Amino acid sequence: MFRALGIKEEVYTLCEEALADLRDRFAEIDRIAEYNQLKVVKAFQDAHVSEAHLYGTTGYGYDDIGRDTLEQVYANVFGTEDALVRSQITSGTHALGIALAGNTRPGDEILCPAGGPYDTLEEIIGIRPSTGSLAEYGITYRQVDLLPDGGFDYDGIRAAINERTHLVEIQRSKGYASRDTFSPEQIGELIAFVKSIKPDVICMVDNCYGEFTRRDEPSLYGADMVVGSLIKNPGGGLAPLGGYIAGTKDCVERAAVRLTTPGLGKEVGASLDNNKLFYQGLFMSPVITANAEKTAIFAAKVYERLGFQCHPSADTTRYDIIQAITLGSEEAMVAFCQGIQAAAPIDSFVTPYPDDMPGYDSKVIMAAGAFVQGSSIELSADGPIRAPYNVYFQGGLTWYHGKLGIMMSVQKMLEKGLIKI
Ligand SMILES: *Cc1c(COP(=O)(O)O)cnc(C)c1O
Repeated sequence: MFRALGIKEEVYTLCEEALADLRDRFAEIDRIAEYNQLKVVKAFQDAHVSEAHLYGTTGYGYDDIGRDTLEQVYANVFGTEDALVRSQITSGTHALGIALAGNTRPGDEILCPAGGPYDTLEEIIGIRPSTGSLAEYGITYRQVDLLPDGGFDYDGIRAAINERTHLVEIQRSKGYASRDTFSPEQIGELIAFVKSIKPDVICMVDNCYGEFTRRDEPSLYGADMVVGSLIKNPGGGLAPLGGYIAGTKDCVERAAVRLTTPGLGKEVGASLDNNKLFYQGLFMSPVITANAEKTAIFAAKVYERLGFQCHPSADTTRYDIIQAITLGSEEAMVAFCQGIQAAAPIDSFVTPYPDDMPGYDSKVIMAAGAFVQGSSIELSADGPIRAPYNVYFQGGLTWYHGKLGIMMSVQKMLEKGLIKI
């Protein structure tokens, strides 16, 4: 079948050899997936999920018991007081946007104590001027970069916290940066430090791509809010859209009144036909996330053998599902992404090229042949076309499909003369 799909003998052999080294890593991932699967089942059972909850509402969505119980399940999974899990949240960026806007007021300051936020948050905060940004409402921003060794700049953070510091935003995953992804424990240390200086600061974690990669989420390490997208890990590949915020009752309520309106808050928002998919996706998510992690580690192992720098390296502990590979040129990024696309179940015959994208300040290439548009828990690759030409690769609903995608990317690189085997 590999031959029938266009994989040449030398690519197959290279990849099978790489795989032989990964048995122990895969076993560790399976153990975490098992723990998280049981955690999710217990969260369902504790919330008394029943068949009636799988159906949705229309119109205002008053008394949507499926939606409200799902939010209890999310709160159980994340160990928080409450959660907002909605199909009206259009994306991870939107979830982060309402979490930030809902929990700040004019005169407040937002602090990013561990380097800048995700690209699309720059316009929400107003780091890059944008209509409707928090800067237009008199909310200011301060940032403390990581130290050259990648550690937290505690002196800098202490100096940056002032009487207006109201909310601290920490991004768990590396996103499009070249740093390491933070572990929940590291995030916990940072939060403890911030709260030792100013106990009432709201600590918010951008949890995108991190869910279920470890046993515990950052919400168990002091975060007041964890925020993410349902077309990444927790949607399990089944959620067709949506986002979540899990956190304290007050933080979630303040975000909810920004999503809907003051006075309405969590009371409205019809779930339509999404409840079943949200429940089932969350149920599947620990295993789907494990499949994506296996694919990422396999990618790192193969590309390290080919001489490319991989971040994280194939042998280090993972805290998210993203694999960065420094390909060093636009041509290599394009070949890699075209390989991922060629392995897809949907749109395998289309050819991705770099182009402008709303929210990003350089051209971006994206490869995805997904059941849900833009879903990055499904096998996908993307990256901004800028030095050092990192491709960010993630997802894989099944490990076998993820493996094929990586093999196809190597095949395309070989055909374009960009690698030698
Ligand atoms: C994907 C992502 C976001 C934004 O999510 P979208 O759903 O693409 O808007 C924010 N932060 C991080 C770290 C992400 O990976």
